[in-house]
Amino acid sequence: MRSIKWKLVLLYLVIIFVVMLLSGIYIIVQTQNNEMKKAKNELEQYATRIQEQVLESYDGEENFQQAFRKTLLTSASLQGNILNEKGETIATTVSSVKPYPNYKYSVIISAMTGAPAFSTGKIGVDNQGFLREWLSYATPVSVDGKIKYIIFVRMDTKNIKDGIQQTKITIFTALIFTLVAASVLSYIFARTLTEPIIILTRRARDLARGHLNQVIPVKSDDEVGQLTGNFNYMAKELNRTIESMTREKSKLEAVLHNMADGVLAFDYNRNLIHANQMSKEFLEFSDMNLSFQELAEKTGVNEEEVYMLLPEETKETTFAIEDRYINASFAPYTNNENIIDGIVVVLQDITKHKILEEMRKEFVANVSHELRTPLATIKSYSETLMNGAIDEREIAADFLKIINSEVDRMTFIVKDLLQLSRLDSRQTSFDKKEVVLNDLLEENTNKNRILAANKNQLLIYIAPKATMTVEVDAQRINQVLNNIITNAYKYSPEGTLVKVSTEETDKYYKVHIKDNGIGIPKEHQKRIFERFYRVDKARSREMGGTGLGLSIAKEIMTEHGGNITVESEQDKGTIMTLHFPKYVK
Ligand code: ADP
Repeated sequence: MRSIKWKLVLLYLVIIFVVMLLSGIYIIVQTQNNEMKKAKNELEQYATRIQEQVLESYDGEENFQQAFRKTLLTSASLQGNILNEKGETIATTVSSVKPYPNYKYSVIISAMTGAPAFSTGKIGVDNQGFLREWLSYATPVSVDGKIKYIIFVRMDTKNIKDGIQQTKITIFTALIFTLVAASVLSYIFARTLTEPIIILTRRARDLARGHLNQVIPVKSDDEVGQLTGNFNYMAKELNRTIESMTREKSKLEAVLHNMADGVLAFDYNRNLIHANQMSKEFLEFSDMNLSFQELAEKTGVNEEEVYMLLPEETKETTFAIEDRYINASFAPYTNNENIIDGIVVVLQDITKHKILEEMRKEFVANVSHELRTPLATIKSYSETLMNGAIDEREIAADFLKIINSEVDRMTFIVKDLLQLSRLDSRQTSFDKKEVVLNDLLEENTNKNRILAANKNQLLIYIAPKATMTVEVDAQRINQVLNNIITNAYKYSPEGTLVKVSTEETDKYYKVHIKDNGIGIPKEHQKRIFERFYRVDKARSREMGGTGLGLSIAKEIMTEHGGNITVESEQDKGTIMTLHFPKYVK
């Protein structure tokens, strides 16, 4: 019954029922009145007839009754009586023999006072003794100005009643038929009216569930048709808006997901509503299990202070997690009304910056330290000379030699630093050419073999059969090879072997420089390519090393698209491997 369809059907039925009932009552009342009027007319005419046809011929009781009955006896349902002024019946159609019925009705009394009167609904018996409901009429008949007779007639109202009953049955039947027909018709009508609404409702539900592509056919151009049209338009617009929003959202999500920075968003109630992959990695949490309190603890910010930030204000902090340094920037975001709705946190890994900064500081400290030592030596020797040592020729010569070698040392350092600085700022131009690597190796091993022999060391080169063509700046590569080969015998005791060999892989030509020297302890291996890094500072310095050779070599190899790797075991020896990309024409 909650459906409009049934409400409409019910409404129609109620309207039809009420209208039919009212008109039925009206018809019945009207018919009843008409029938009554007709019956009264008939009774009046009957009374007139008695007066005109019968009463004038009244001559004595006996014969009159005979004549009266002959003239007037019509039917059992219509009775005529003549009463005298005392109200005694003197002639009647009811009975042929005396005693005649004696009537004491109010209509008769009224007629006796001179006023004709009707009465309905009187129950009485007819001449066969059946109970009947009568319509009675009594009228006085005056002779010479005095009431002499009363004519009392009555009629059985059964026919009228039956007629009215029939009318009632007819109307009732019509009502039933009308209601049945109206039910069917109103149902069909209501359905036609509500069908589009039902479809619309269903579609609206589908729409709410996300099925936006359905179009409802517009069947009419009435209000419902217009509503359907507008509904279709709305669904289309909604679909378009949602599609573009989804596109934007997935774009944004892709950007956030692939960002190198971590991004988190908290709502006004401090619930985490967004966290990209990087933020989870930085803060080491999974799913969405991070409260603002935990974040505040990890980053070391004050929770309340962050939520008190004004729009456009930000708060930054740096914190360390594991071996990473992370910069966190907190900024509030606002809603349409410029009221703060939550906080966005951007996390940036600044470990590299930190390391670079550390390296820079260390580098400056190293440079100062490296230069200070020879300067101090020069200073002390020159002072000693000035203080008189200059006069002792032999000592003076020794001192000057030392001063000279310290200056050489400083010159080496400055030269290496300059070269590194040029490599860093990419001021060095590489003159890359197609070169046969075999030749470079041959040349370098030959040159170093004599120097190695000075230390009673053997330097061998196992030349490959194949020609290894590479595209390099020959001068720079010579510098690299020289540095690595020199290191090999520099850090090996007398009487050992340095072996230079090659290997070919898919992409590279590899050059292995193997020694049986002091080796490099594991913990130092990663760092030997750093500037000024030396495993044993005193030893390296003693051997004239600056601690910059390997870092320069690494830079040069990287510039050529290659690399240097190290394998080493303390006191056993070291293998340095140079990787040269193969030259493809
Ligand atoms: P240095 O001028 O001190 O030789 P390098 O940059 O060439 O500077 O080398 C850095 C450090 O690496 C050296 O001080 C040394 O401790 C270590 N090293 C390099 N090559 C070898 C090697 N073949 N065997 C052992 N240690 C080596």
